[in-house]
Formats: sequence, C-alpha cells, structure tokens
Amino acid sequence: MAQNSVDLVIIGAGLSGLVAASELSGDIDLVVVDKARSPGGRLATRRIGDATFDHGAQFFTVRSQEFANEVTKWSNRSISKVWTYGFQGESDGHPRYIGVHGMNSIAKDLATGIRMDLQNAVSSITYEDSKFHIHGHPHDYFAKQLVVAIPCPSAIEITKDLPSSSVTIIRDSLGFIAYNPTISGLFVMMDEGDFGPIQPIQRPNSKVNFLADNKQKGISAKNALTLHLGDEISLELFYGNYSQGEIESILRENLFELIGEVPISEMQVKSWRYASPISIYPEAVMDLGRIGGSGALPLIFSGDGYGSSKVEGAYLSGLRAAAAVREYLG
Ligand SMILES: Cc1cc2nc3c(=O)[nH]c(=O)nc-3n(C[C@H](O)[C@H](O)[C@H](O)COP(=O)(O)OP(=O)(O)OC[C@H]3O[C@@H](n4cnc5c(N)ncnc54)[C@H](O)[C@@H]3O)c2cc1C
Repeated sequence: MAQNSVDLVIIGAGLSGLVAASELSGDIDLVVVDKARSPGGRLATRRIGDATFDHGAQFFTVRSQEFANEVTKWSNRSISKVWTYGFQGESDGHPRYIGVHGMNSIAKDLATGIRMDLQNAVSSITYEDSKFHIHGHPHDYFAKQLVVAIPCPSAIEITKDLPSSSVTIIRDSLGFIAYNPTISGLFVMMDEGDFGPIQPIQRPNSKVNFLADNKQKGISAKNALTLHLGDEISLELFYGNYSQGEIESILRENLFELIGEVPISEMQVKSWRYASPISIYPEAVMDLGRIGGSGALPLIFSGDGYGSSKVEGAYLSGLRAAAAVREYLG
C-alpha cells in the first residue's frame, strides 16, 4: 500500500475543502483526497448525450461581504453569473447565481493547480507518533495537520479510531447533525417535442421543491430538466424499500403533475444521502485543538454543516478552515 508524508491532508474536494486548499496552496505542502472521480462533491454537473444537468446544488445566493467579493471575482472571470431574480416567473430582486458552465465548473476552477488524489476513499484516521495516519483506499497518507471537509455523519465514521478523548468530543459535538436526502430526477427532452419555455420553479416544503430546464439556465445544448423531490418524499424513497423503476415512475408522475405530459427521451436518477443539513454546528469550523483543551489534536472539521449551510456556508467554512490551519502554523 502506497504511503506519503505531507504537512496537510484535506479530506473532501467539495467546495469547502477546495476553498481551504486554494487558500493554503503554495504556502504549505498539501494534498486533497476525495473518493469521487472528479472534484466538486455536491457542486455536481452531469452529461447525458448532448444534455447537461446540474444535479446537486442548483444555484447559490450571496449574503456575506466575503462571499460577495469572491463571487465578483468569479463573475469577472466568467466562472459564475446571475441566473434569475426569482421563481414561478416572479422577481423578488435577489440574484441567484450559477456556474457559467454548470455548478461543477466552479469547483473545477478552484481545483486548478491543487494537488489532488481522487478515487481515494478514506475509511479511518489514526494518530501515530504525532502524525495523522489517513487510511485511504488505495493510498495512505501521514500528515501533521488534517482538515476533514465531508458531511458530519461521514466525519464521525472515519474518525472513530482516533484516541477516545477525541472521539468523545467529536461525537458529542457533531452527533446531532443529520442531513436530509434528496432524490433528483434528470429528464432529457425530445428534440421534436412541442412544449413552451419551462420557467424555473422553487417550492419549499412541497412534493417537488425544485424544477429547472438546464437549457434555460444556459448550460445545456438540449432541453434538460432537473427535478428535486421535497424532503418528506425524498426521505420515504431513500430509506424505504423502493425499486429503481418505482422511483423513476414517481419522479415522472411528479414532473407531469407539475408541467403536463412533456415528451422525454431518457431519464436518470441521482439519490443524495447527505443533501442538506437539518441542524448545524454553531461555528464555521470545528477546531478540535481549540475546543479540546491542552494536548488535543490539531484537527479541523469544515463543510456546510458548520456555521451556515448551502454553497455560501461551505465557502465560508472553507475560508475559516484555512485560517485555522494558518494559526497552527504560527
Ligand atoms: C440535491 C441538492 C440540491 C442543492 N441545492 C442547493 C442550492 O440550490 N443552493 C445552495 O446554496 N446549496 C444547495 N445544495 C447544498 C450545496 O450543494 C452544499 O451545501 C455544498 O456544495 C456542500 O459543500 P461541502 O464542501 O461542504 O460538501 P460536499 O460537496 O459534500 O463535499 C464533500 C466531498 O467529500 C468527499 N468524501 C466524502 N466522504 C469521503 C471519504 N470517506 N473519503 C474521501 N472523500 C470523501 C465527497 O466525495 C465530496 O466530494 C444542494 C445540495 C444537493 C445535494
């Protein structure tokens, strides 16, 4: 089994891990490890033939000045742009941003120039001779410092072999953070179909909480609909005993109920176990070294489960994780 020594390992190449890495890259010897084939996590864009779909995060909003500054830079470089000011054909004056080439293109841009180890799934972390031993498949790492930028239930799982005092703090601090699943339906529309423009729909607490045509978003050559089922029905389908075929027909029924029987040539389903946190850790990162008292491990947790949720929360958490790493460097 290959083993490498680095100053910092960041587990998770979602937005949070990538932001931390891009802040620190160049100043510290680091690697970002992710189990997936490409970076981005829930900033996910998929192709089916000529159709392109955002199938994780659909757009983002901006509230903090820090994020606004970054989004201005992205927009100036044509990485992101304003998509819409509202849903159901009504404007509320608040801009919703998207990646110009899909949400994943934001992650790809952040990942440029960063050392990445993809398709490497971390199963556990131990602490040996004042270093973290990251047990990955297929690569292990030894690191002085570690940022765990993955959803909280997975973070608890991979840290269970650390010294028991750390495990207790991690469980007590993060054990209450649960995530809602989301079932996402991706529909490729027939070219010759006779249907008018499909306006984006967002309806929190409904059976369908989101629908958009990725062609209307400007990221797909073909009409390509992304539909997200609401929390209640997603929970039922994710944890219930439903076949793939049953889930597909429920998605299709919900689409037709919403916009009528539009002609579809192909569909795919994406089930997200950890789509959005129901509750979150009160600070933008959990820094074990700071909250654990003397002798606690320099271990930092970040992601959208910390401080605030969604794309902006993940971004801000990544920034704070980088700042926490710098504090340890002195
Ligand atoms: C369906 C859906 C719709 C959404 N809609 C919106 C929206 O409209 N607006 C909005 O602002 N937000 C939305 N979000 C939320 C947004 O996508 C997230 O808040 C944000 O992308 C989270 O980033 P992150 O870096 O914290 O985590 P993630 O993106 O989950 O990144 C974690 C990374 O860790 C990797 N990983 C996990 N476990 C391991 C392991 N053991 N070993 C190695 N790698 C591992 C994963 O592969 C992943 O790449 C949505 C999410 C989903 C799923």
